Amino acid sequence: MLDLTVITEATIAVPNKPYRARHFIAGAYCNSADGAVSERISPSHGVVASISAKGGAAEAEAAIAAARTAFDDGRWSDVPARARAKVLNKVADLIEANVERLALIETMETGKPISQSRGECGGAADLWRYAASLARTSHGDSHNTLGKDILAVVTKEPIGVVSIITPWNFPFWILSQKLPFALAAGCTCVVKPSEITPSTTAMLAEFLIEAGLPKGVCNIVLGAGNPIGSLMSTHSDVDMITFTGSTGVGKIISQAAANTLKKVALELGGKNPQVVFSDADLDQAADAIAFGVYFNVGQCCNSSSRIIVHEDIAKDLVERVVALTRHVRFGNPLHPDTQVGAIVTPEHNGSIDAHVRAAVRAGATLRLGGAPMVVDGLGQQFYQPTILTGVTAEMPIASSEVFGPVLTVLTFRTMDEAIALTNGTTYGLSAGVWSENVHTCLEFSRRAQAGTVWTNTWMDGFPELAFGGVKQSGQGREIGSYGYDEFLEVKSHVLRIGRTRAPWVKTPSA
Ligand code: NAD
Repeated sequence: MLDLTVITEATIAVPNKPYRARHFIAGAYCNSADGAVSERISPSHGVVASISAKGGAAEAEAAIAAARTAFDDGRWSDVPARARAKVLNKVADLIEANVERLALIETMETGKPISQSRGECGGAADLWRYAASLARTSHGDSHNTLGKDILAVVTKEPIGVVSIITPWNFPFWILSQKLPFALAAGCTCVVKPSEITPSTTAMLAEFLIEAGLPKGVCNIVLGAGNPIGSLMSTHSDVDMITFTGSTGVGKIISQAAANTLKKVALELGGKNPQVVFSDADLDQAADAIAFGVYFNVGQCCNSSSRIIVHEDIAKDLVERVVALTRHVRFGNPLHPDTQVGAIVTPEHNGSIDAHVRAAVRAGATLRLGGAPMVVDGLGQQFYQPTILTGVTAEMPIASSEVFGPVLTVLTFRTMDEAIALTNGTTYGLSAGVWSENVHTCLEFSRRAQAGTVWTNTWMDGFPELAFGGVKQSGQGREIGSYGYDEFLEVKSHVLRIGRTRAPWVKTPSA
């Protein structure tokens, strides 16, 4: 019998009507030419959360054409950076002023707790402000050491039209990891949110208009990966695509983009380990493990779904995580104290369950949970917090991304074993190490194949730091100055001073 803390009641009312989301193309809202719409049923409350325009090739073509025209005529890229920064800062102000509206629809569409939607949407304002600061401070280089008759200047120029495709797990945050940075660089954009969480992206158009972003600089098309995302990946008028989503779709996009050799930036899946050495602070580690696996119901690219723990402390650590799990507040996302909400779709709930069942069949031990969960008054689109012990590296659950509240526990004896397990998957997004010994931490940090390594902490993130994965977790970086540079081309200008150039062709008079 599971002994959990479950919150069934809400303190915030379900909206009395669905949000209506439309495309935003060339500065105007529009419906689809054929009038098609799609409804999003709230995972937690079973009501229609939003009705959105469902676009097709016509809308994608129109959005790409608008972005191309807006880039080519310089209405945004020629604007001084201080003016671009002013628009981005204004958008940040409007995001903060509208956090409650954004957070409510984010929760209705994703099923995540309202406190986390507030954090995600409100916190995104800082990404917009940081991108604005980069617009004003980023610059190229000059070289005056190449000879007294040569001066060379390296400039950064916007790459052009950028396609932005985002997933459903952090719709507004991930949008804000990309769009303000592309805009700060002077690019124009076509944005496609996930078809199941379109509304906060659609709502952003209001703020872009009010902040004074010129028409056509940011275009938003709502609808499915096919045909919209496909066109955004193949179209010859698009210069770059930045995608966050599954590794499978990332590969499709990479192949689709190859024909036009557009630049591709990918933020993909992960099977991220927290590695706990025997001298670690186990209270801190256990809490970070609970946070790492249950935050966003584990539907998180950075979910620490793998624990690799020294065998001497494995039993103790697992018992601590089990004990903490009983105090995590699961249930109604419309209560401010809830920490873990609903699973995004019934299909995804089924997929999580299938992973767990297969793991048990393969020999793993179910220490906690292991089944879908019903929350009184809210239906059954929830999943029990689940801990699988006795997992070995050969079992599929040790290396496949479950994207649910499912923790797999593996053990090690030596640093080399810990590193082999850490690096033994095709993913390489993030990793963590827990030890009181600085040498252990530094050695792990340097040997782990991951875009981010956390030491004695988990999932601390900052706009200033680059984010991204190695191996099949992605390519390119997001946020930080490295993320900003992804949206820029670098050009070298070489200038000769005076008539010092020796002729190449030897003429009779020379
Ligand atoms: P998904 O790959 O199914 O969909 C992501 C987006 O791609 C959606 O907008 C979808 O409509 C679009 N799409 C689907 N098919 C397409 C195609 N053929 N061409 C172009 N676009 C297409 O991912 P999801 O289920 O929405 O999100 C979950 C996945 O995202 C997980 O694997 C997770 O790890 C990953 N993710 C990664 C990060 C990161 O930063 N590394 C962050 C969040 C999520």
